[in-house]
Amino acid sequence: MLSGMSGESPYPEVATDPDTGEHYLPVSLRGVALLKTPTLNKGTAFSRREREDFDLVGMLPDHVSPIEEQLDRVANQIHYKVSDMDKNIYLNGLMDRNETLFYRFLIENLEAMVPLIYTPTVATSCRHWSRIFRRARGVYVTPRDRGRIVDVLDCRPKASRPVIVVTDNERILGIGDQGAGGMGIPIGKLALYAAAAGIHPTRCIPISLDVGTNNPELLADPLYVGYRSERLRGEEYDDFIAEFVAAVRTVFPGALLQWEDFSNRTSFENLSRYRSSVLSFNDDIQGTAAMVVAGLMAATRQIGGKIADQRIVIVGAGSAGIGIRDQIATAMVDEGASRVDAEARIMTLDSRGLIVEGRPGLPSGKARLALSQEAVKNWQIDDHPIGLRDVIRNARASVLVGVSGVPGVFTEEMIRRMALHAERPIIMPLSNPTSHAEVTPASAIEWTDGRAIVATGSPFPNVQYEGRVHRIGQANNVFIFPGIGLGVLTVGAHQVSDKMLLAASKALASAVTAEQVDVGQLYPSMADVRATSAKVAKAVAHQAVAEGLAPPMDGIDQRIEEEMWFPEYLPYRAV
Ligand code: NAD
Repeated sequence: MLSGMSGESPYPEVATDPDTGEHYLPVSLRGVALLKTPTLNKGTAFSRREREDFDLVGMLPDHVSPIEEQLDRVANQIHYKVSDMDKNIYLNGLMDRNETLFYRFLIENLEAMVPLIYTPTVATSCRHWSRIFRRARGVYVTPRDRGRIVDVLDCRPKASRPVIVVTDNERILGIGDQGAGGMGIPIGKLALYAAAAGIHPTRCIPISLDVGTNNPELLADPLYVGYRSERLRGEEYDDFIAEFVAAVRTVFPGALLQWEDFSNRTSFENLSRYRSSVLSFNDDIQGTAAMVVAGLMAATRQIGGKIADQRIVIVGAGSAGIGIRDQIATAMVDEGASRVDAEARIMTLDSRGLIVEGRPGLPSGKARLALSQEAVKNWQIDDHPIGLRDVIRNARASVLVGVSGVPGVFTEEMIRRMALHAERPIIMPLSNPTSHAEVTPASAIEWTDGRAIVATGSPFPNVQYEGRVHRIGQANNVFIFPGIGLGVLTVGAHQVSDKMLLAASKALASAVTAEQVDVGQLYPSMADVRATSAKVAKAVAHQAVAEGLAPPMDGIDQRIEEEMWFPEYLPYRAV
């Protein structure tokens, strides 16, 4: 048993004065301990009374700042940071000092701040983790902890119904194995849970399963902070994951576990192994898929018809591509198509071309994605194996989704070809970061004479073409995963089903206004992400109850609204 650590939450329950009705926090910490507790620290906003009651006199400058002034001060300091990385480091420092202020600033400046605390800047942060490391946040579990993972998790302050984002760091964004540096991802994603869905920060638990790294640069770096060893593999790895999941169930019953940035192989294996035994989902696979389906729903709202009418080409058959393919098929079935017909309308390519029956060396794991030989028997094929050019031409593609990580693979010839047979081609170059996009929105719009509807993975500016403004919606998973989390946790669901993901897509698509759809924007604006999360959460929660995956509950919509934490200072009373 590990000892010397407290599992109690440092954040007390909000209390209400029976006489005045005032909400307040009963706080037992005093002095330096209070100033050093980020969930409770108010910095210069402690009132004169609180300074007296909590032994803070002399520890703060005289002036009492309302939060608005503090927000101005934060904006001022961000302004003087030159690089995005400096801004990221400053913001993480702020989170470690005063979470209320950090989240308030984030919520009031979502559009500008999300790229700083998450993609693309988080990639640099993960890469340089061991050099910029300042203060530990989250839980690191290593092979040294085998046999006592339950104790390691138990040391963490408790919160009811938490969200855990866990990674084993092997495939961080598009930058590969980052060892202990992968912790930047769970921390960043959970910051988005708190900001976008109002999950209180004490309910957010970032976990790094630091099972070693096969990144030679990290292993050779004297400053590397992680478990300096080659990765755990095979049975040892599987046993480690099994022990971790069992420990989560014991220590955090009712928690939501979000798998994040595992390698292609382990992400599918872990998901299928644990999906029905622990409330969990994988954002790279399922969150991305739900996002893309929502985009297609919004697009078909504009151009008419159904998703099942489209001929869809997915370029990239990794976590994102396979998840997208499966969930689009589910959406088509929901529209009334048969599973066989639905799957026949979706063509998937990997780095070796079209995934088709009989392709030499086709890995067994991809066999179920294969288009039949019958479907391609009349195709006119120029390239062997069958490449994207041939697929677009023969399949008369109307939707092109890029999740290959390869910049520029959607060429002018291909896009112009699409525009020949699709009145409004839907083009989604989703690969991140910006420089990896399969095509730029400006090119896609120009090559289709302004007819393409484009959504991207990274943020892109609007495109002006022949006097018309095309707004480029960002297919950012932040519109989906925080709402899914809020929904399942509010109703106490015990599983995340495909139908719940479909409900999330429908809710997200409905959050796009008619005006936005008119200018080609397939996703809401970042500034509206909290309202969007609430919508998604309600849809997911109702679906969970309808499917019997959560107990019946009255007033779900209101509970979801009430559940959303908004960062503001409550008065403190000494206990
Ligand atoms: P992954 O490594 O699991 O998969 C990449 C796939 O692309 C592999 O199957 C590979 O064979 C294939 N590929 C490589 N070169 C190709 C080529 N020239 N043509 C066709 N296929 C090719 O990665 P992933 O998690 O699936 O993510 C892929 C990309 O999608 C990344 O850039 C990621 O940033 C992006 N992504 C975006 C979003 C979003 O916008 N919301 C969400 C998830 C992933």
